Amino acid sequence: MRTTLLLSVAAHLLVSRADPTVDQENALLDPTAECAPYNYAPVTNALSAFPAAGTPVTGILAGDTAAQSKFDSFKANIPNIAPRGVNGVFATNATSSYPATDPDCWWTFGQCLTPKVAGLKPDIADVPEPRTLGYGFDDGPNCSHNAFYDYLTSKKQKATMFFIGTNVMFEPLQALRAAQDGHEICVHTWSHHPMTAFTNEQAFAELWYTMQSIKLVTGYTPTCWRPPQGDVDDRIRYIAQQLNLDNILWKYDAFDWKVASGQATPAEVQTNYDNLVADVGKGTFDTVGAIMLTHELDNYTMQTAIDNYPKLAAAFDHIVPVGVGYNKTQPYVEKNFTLPSFAQYIGSAAAGGGGGGNSASSSGGSTKAGSGSGSNTAAGSSPSSSGGAAGTGAAISVRLSFAGVLVSCAALLGAALVL
Ligand SMILES: [Zn+2]
Repeated sequence: MRTTLLLSVAAHLLVSRADPTVDQENALLDPTAECAPYNYAPVTNALSAFPAAGTPVTGILAGDTAAQSKFDSFKANIPNIAPRGVNGVFATNATSSYPATDPDCWWTFGQCLTPKVAGLKPDIADVPEPRTLGYGFDDGPNCSHNAFYDYLTSKKQKATMFFIGTNVMFEPLQALRAAQDGHEICVHTWSHHPMTAFTNEQAFAELWYTMQSIKLVTGYTPTCWRPPQGDVDDRIRYIAQQLNLDNILWKYDAFDWKVASGQATPAEVQTNYDNLVADVGKGTFDTVGAIMLTHELDNYTMQTAIDNYPKLAAAFDHIVPVGVGYNKTQPYVEKNFTLPSFAQYIGSAAAGGGGGGNSASSSGGSTKAGSGSGSNTAAGSSPSSSGGAAGTGAAISVRLSFAGVLVSCAALLGAALVL
């Protein structure tokens, strides 16, 4: 499987442009030019330390003593819950055979957000600040995201970006841009498959190697993640918690990911955005804010995000990265990047400064992986208030269906593989 990765990523990275800088890549606006393959030496040189791209991980790589040691340190205490499928694919009776009492707090079954195993942190599915949107995008980095990221920059808007490990390896400069722009980067697994359909070791490896890929490229190790399709239960929550990853879900879904596969129309997606805006007007978020599932998946989803930003900004009092909504001022293991507190972020926004304290200092030259030299000015570190409990507030309006997401993922990963 490692040979597969070497061939696929090497083919992607070595075919044409040699080592463009992040600034050169950021300056491109034609999607075809943005998505032309390029070489990025820190990734090319590290391929043997990563599993095959675009396919479910088979487990911890042979000889990876750091990963094995970490997994061995807690594996005996993982809740004894059986995987719901094999190699990231659900068994056909996964839901029909599951007890109605939902003993494992399986989100896919009933959108459970409060774990039943003692000691597990509750999921995050909204933000505690009233009339506030926790703003995030799944499935990046997308090779043609410059117009979208330029737009966010023009609005001094930061967001939470949930990155797929395979995509980070294919689009390292795009991942680096997200870090340098000051966005909050979270893990969205290595291969984007349902996590409850993996073994313990596979689930660990899906998270571990994505964390390593983001660290390799940006210099930062994330402390948050989002399960593909929202598929998480107490077994997976336990594994993620041992990796210091907060679990971020949602209660609203734009279903923007469905358009590429023909399962939804743009008009229907617009209605989903409009319904969120309407709920602000109805007072739905007067006590607790919102999180909606939206995507960096393709040019349509990104343009739709741009088109709707003014409406969201007019409706909500504040739009912030999820970490800012929780005053999580240090979003990475490394301490040389600081997110503003909520008060700092909105204070800065009110003063026209928008994004708070993360001034990107892209230097023009290539950024060495692992150096953590991308951005970041400390914005102070005293949270003004503690985050509220997740799981309250707006009712769940929509949820994902399995088949649709798998189609969209296959398209995403397939596109990445052939680019
Ligand atoms: Zn996703």
